[in-house]
Amino acid sequence: MKPMVDREQLHKLFLSGKPLAEIAKELGSTHGAIRTLIYQERLRNPLDWPHRVNYPGKSAEQPLMMHLYECDECAITFAVEDYEEVDHSATACPICGGEESVKDKCYGRFVPTSMASQAEAM
Ligand SMILES: [Zn+2]
Repeated sequence: MKPMVDREQLHKLFLSGKPLAEIAKELGSTHGAIRTLIYQERLRNPLDWPHRVNYPGKSAEQPLMMHLYECDECAITFAVEDYEEVDHSATACPICGGEESVKDKCYGRFVPTSMASQAEAM
Protein backbone atom coordinates (compact mmCIF):
# COMPACT_ATOMS: atom_id res chain seq x y z
CA MET A 1 0.00 0.00 0.00
CA LYS A 2 1.43 3.35 -1.02
CA PRO A 3 1.27 6.27 1.41
CA MET A 4 -1.39 8.60 0.14
CA VAL A 5 -0.69 11.43 2.55
CA ASP A 6 1.88 14.12 1.84
CA ARG A 7 4.07 13.97 4.94
CA GLU A 8 5.33 17.54 4.55
CA GLN A 9 1.78 18.77 4.41
CA LEU A 10 0.80 16.57 7.34
CA HIS A 11 3.70 17.92 9.39
CA LYS A 12 2.70 21.51 8.64
CA LEU A 13 -0.89 20.89 9.64
CA PHE A 14 0.22 18.97 12.71
CA LEU A 15 2.38 21.85 13.92
CA SER A 16 -0.41 24.33 13.25
CA GLY A 17 -2.29 22.60 16.05
CA LYS A 18 -5.33 21.58 14.06
CA PRO A 19 -7.45 18.72 15.38
CA LEU A 20 -6.54 15.41 13.76
CA ALA A 21 -10.04 15.06 12.38
CA GLU A 22 -9.64 18.32 10.45
CA ILE A 23 -6.17 17.38 9.26
CA ALA A 24 -7.58 14.10 8.00
CA LYS A 25 -10.35 15.87 6.14
CA GLU A 26 -7.92 18.31 4.55
CA LEU A 27 -5.62 15.53 3.39
CA GLY A 28 -8.44 13.30 2.23
CA SER A 29 -7.60 10.64 4.79
CA THR A 30 -9.14 9.20 7.92
CA HIS A 31 -8.62 10.12 11.55
CA GLY A 32 -7.17 6.70 12.34
CA ALA A 33 -4.78 6.75 9.38
CA ILE A 34 -3.49 10.19 10.33
CA ARG A 35 -3.00 9.13 13.92
CA THR A 36 -1.06 6.05 12.85
CA LEU A 37 1.10 8.12 10.49
CA ILE A 38 1.92 10.63 13.21
CA TYR A 39 2.72 7.79 15.59
CA GLN A 40 5.11 6.22 13.09
CA GLU A 41 6.75 9.52 12.23
CA ARG A 42 7.16 10.30 15.92
CA LEU A 43 9.00 7.03 16.48
CA ARG A 44 11.47 8.05 13.79
CA ASN A 45 11.77 11.76 14.61
CA PRO A 46 10.40 12.41 18.10
CA LEU A 47 11.70 15.98 18.10
CA ASP A 48 9.82 16.87 14.93
CA TRP A 49 6.54 15.55 16.22
CA PRO A 50 6.06 16.92 19.71
CA HIS A 51 3.16 15.77 21.78
CA ARG A 52 0.45 18.35 21.69
CA VAL A 53 -0.21 19.12 25.31
CA ASN A 54 -3.10 21.41 24.46
CA TYR A 55 -4.93 18.75 22.55
CA PRO A 56 -8.57 18.99 23.62
CA GLY A 57 -9.50 16.44 26.23
CA LYS A 58 -5.95 15.21 26.73
CA SER A 59 -4.54 17.92 28.93
CA ALA A 60 -4.81 15.73 32.02
CA GLU A 61 -2.22 13.27 30.77
CA GLN A 62 0.51 15.68 29.79
CA PRO A 63 3.59 13.58 29.09
CA LEU A 64 6.89 14.32 30.72
CA MET A 65 9.59 14.46 28.09
CA MET A 66 13.10 13.62 29.22
CA HIS A 67 16.56 13.56 27.72
CA LEU A 68 18.73 10.73 28.90
CA TYR A 69 22.47 11.37 29.15
CA GLU A 70 25.42 9.15 29.91
CA CYS A 71 28.77 10.27 31.36
CA ASP A 72 31.80 8.30 30.15
CA GLU A 73 33.93 9.47 33.06
CA CYS A 74 31.59 8.43 35.84
CA ALA A 75 29.73 5.65 34.03
CA ILE A 76 26.39 7.03 35.12
CA THR A 77 23.18 7.77 33.35
CA PHE A 78 21.05 10.74 34.25
CA ALA A 79 17.91 12.33 32.89
CA VAL A 80 17.08 15.95 32.27
CA GLU A 81 13.56 17.19 31.90
CA ASP A 82 12.86 18.63 28.52
CA TYR A 83 11.69 22.20 28.87
CA GLU A 84 11.89 24.62 26.02
CA GLU A 85 14.12 26.92 28.03
CA VAL A 86 16.69 24.20 28.72
CA ASP A 87 19.83 24.36 26.61
CA HIS A 88 20.65 20.70 26.18
CA SER A 89 23.88 21.39 24.31
CA ALA A 90 25.37 22.64 27.59
CA THR A 91 24.33 19.69 29.73
CA ALA A 92 26.99 18.84 32.29
CA CYS A 93 27.46 15.70 34.34
CA PRO A 94 26.05 16.12 37.87
CA ILE A 95 28.96 14.12 39.34
CA CYS A 96 32.11 15.42 37.65
CA GLY A 97 30.63 18.56 36.11
CA GLY A 98 32.13 17.70 32.74
CA GLU A 99 30.44 18.44 29.45
CA GLU A 100 32.75 16.64 27.01
CA SER A 101 32.22 13.24 28.59
CA VAL A 102 28.43 13.55 28.47
CA LYS A 103 26.66 11.82 25.62
CA ASP A 104 23.05 12.23 24.61
CA LYS A 105 21.73 8.72 24.96
CA CYS A 106 18.10 9.00 24.10
CA TYR A 107 15.02 11.10 24.26
CA GLY A 108 11.59 10.02 25.21
CA ARG A 109 8.52 10.14 27.30
CA PHE A 110 8.74 9.10 30.90
CA VAL A 111 5.56 7.64 32.28
CA PRO A 112 4.88 8.04 35.99
CA THR A 113 4.87 4.29 36.67
CA SER A 114 8.39 3.73 35.33
CA MET A 115 9.62 6.80 37.18
CA ALA A 116 8.29 5.38 40.41
CA SER A 117 9.99 2.06 39.87
CA GLN A 118 13.23 3.80 38.96
CA ALA A 119 13.10 5.81 42.15
CA GLU A 120 12.66 2.61 44.11
CA ALA A 121 15.66 1.05 42.40
CA MET A 122 17.84 3.91 43.59
ZN1 LIG B 1 30.80 12.63 34.95
